[in-house]
Amino acid sequence: MIYADYNGSAPICEDVKEYFIKRLQDGPFANPNSIHRLGTKVLTAMENSRAICAKILGAKYTQIIFNSGATEGITQVFHSVLDSAKEDGKNFVITSGIEHSAVINCAKFYENKGYTHKVVPTLGNGVIDLKQLKEWMQEFKGRIALVSIMAANNETGVIQPFEEIATLCTSDNVPFLCDTTQFIGKCEFNFQKSNIDYAVTSGHKFGALTGTGMLLAKHPAKLHPLVIGGGQEKGIRGGTQNYLGYETLAVALNSFQNNGADKYIALKEKKLVFEAEIKKRFPQVVILGEEAPRVCSTTYIAYPGIHGQAVQIELESADIFVTTSSACSDNEPVTSKVLRAMGVNDEVGRGVVRISLGHCSPLESYDEILEALTNAYEKLGKIKSY
Ligand code: PLP
Repeated sequence: MIYADYNGSAPICEDVKEYFIKRLQDGPFANPNSIHRLGTKVLTAMENSRAICAKILGAKYTQIIFNSGATEGITQVFHSVLDSAKEDGKNFVITSGIEHSAVINCAKFYENKGYTHKVVPTLGNGVIDLKQLKEWMQEFKGRIALVSIMAANNETGVIQPFEEIATLCTSDNVPFLCDTTQFIGKCEFNFQKSNIDYAVTSGHKFGALTGTGMLLAKHPAKLHPLVIGGGQEKGIRGGTQNYLGYETLAVALNSFQNNGADKYIALKEKKLVFEAEIKKRFPQVVILGEEAPRVCSTTYIAYPGIHGQAVQIELESADIFVTTSSACSDNEPVTSKVLRAMGVNDEVGRGVVRISLGHCSPLESYDEILEALTNAYEKLGKIKSY
């Protein structure tokens, strides 16, 4: 079996598995906010995990807020920043057309509350149009409440110029939320050096337990709680902390720091060989975002005229799990909004499958995927879907 949907959710990494099994056997279990000895032990372990996460991500210890993941972090930032910005004359929200729905739907929510939502266009290579963003930053100077643009795209893996955007926003005093969900745990990241105001993560994207994550905030005191509760996480996120889950964030990030770089360099090299070979076999194949910098282990590939879902089913019958990422309407696959933003036509857009590997993937997976994909394209090419 080859699991190739890491961008959807990564398997729990080996170090986390080992740690967690032992942790469940040995305990202790208690409320980290209880003052007895067991509570203190649990609190110490949780705070130690926070310190490890902060160190690996280049943040201050106080800048890390544990939560359930990226969707929660994004929503909290939108609510914190936009609850009152309009009253200060700041009524523009800028996002891009390739953001995750967790961002897009927050922007829409505030559009309905009277904010003007501007969507930065995307170039054909999958990178946002920085020139347009710069122009809008000038045109709407003093009236921009929030810029929210991602670090790496979940479909194409294309890396965005987020550090440049952070510099622009910082010099204009505009809060910048960067959705780093697909970047952290795959690439080196330093929160303080990046100059980002808010960054978000989901543990299940990098080998920790699902339902865990972090919001990184340059100035945490500016955040309003979404969940009020009893003052946990310094009043920023109420409710008894999922301390076992948060410990796994530190273990997974530590594992990435110790072994990640070598593994990801090797995966990237192997991915490029795989992509070159499949294109040699099928010159009509398109790899989306190929010309731009991409995270090491994502290939978004289409054979024009063959439905991505048909390819996905063929691969699944060979025990290889990929995804298509194109939404389905009335049983007709439609080109995803990310690809539409890139100007990709339906012939290609309906054909995509996303192959995303990661920390647990043997390099040979690419050899097996190459053969299975070759078989699928040969078979389906004879009975083209559209
Ligand atoms: N942002 C990006 C880029 C993602 O890929 C995802 C998940 O796929 C999210 C946000 C939301 O993450 P979660 O569902 O873990 O909250």
